[in-house]
Amino acid sequence: MNEELYQEIKSNKQYNPQMHSAEHILNQTMVRMFNCGRSFSNHIEKKKSKCDYHFDRNLTEEEINLINHKVNEVIQLNLNVVEEFYQKDEAKEKFNLSKLPEDAGEKVRVIKIGEYDACPCSGLHVSSTKEIGSFKILSSDFKEGVLRIRFKLLNE
Ligand SMILES: [Zn+2]
Repeated sequence: MNEELYQEIKSNKQYNPQMHSAEHILNQTMVRMFNCGRSFSNHIEKKKSKCDYHFDRNLTEEEINLINHKVNEVIQLNLNVVEEFYQKDEAKEKFNLSKLPEDAGEKVRVIKIGEYDACPCSGLHVSSTKEIGSFKILSSDFKEGVLRIRFKLLNE
């Protein structure tokens, strides 16, 4: 990422690398548990965030507990968060690039969270998962094919 863009993202007070990294882990957890896609829309802010998924129902309390447990388990593993660059053609085969802007260039930046998750992204992230703190789902609701999960992070 170029320095100018980096500074621009960093100067946005609402931008929170912890929250943003938690979103990656939540998405991968949803994909693994329910075989749904990653969130197609989200709103990530420091205090609380929300992610929307194409789904067919609301989550049960038990499922919410399981998601909380799994996301926190990954955080506690203290996995390294690293960036890798792929040529666009190679990235196309491995990842869903539909959320990348058209002018993203020939190299695609992929954020890897240990062996748990890999996802094209241009945002800022923590360098290891323990920095995220602990993850908690506040609520979930379902309407017209969209499951919305609201969550926050608890830091000591
Ligand atoms: Zn990201």
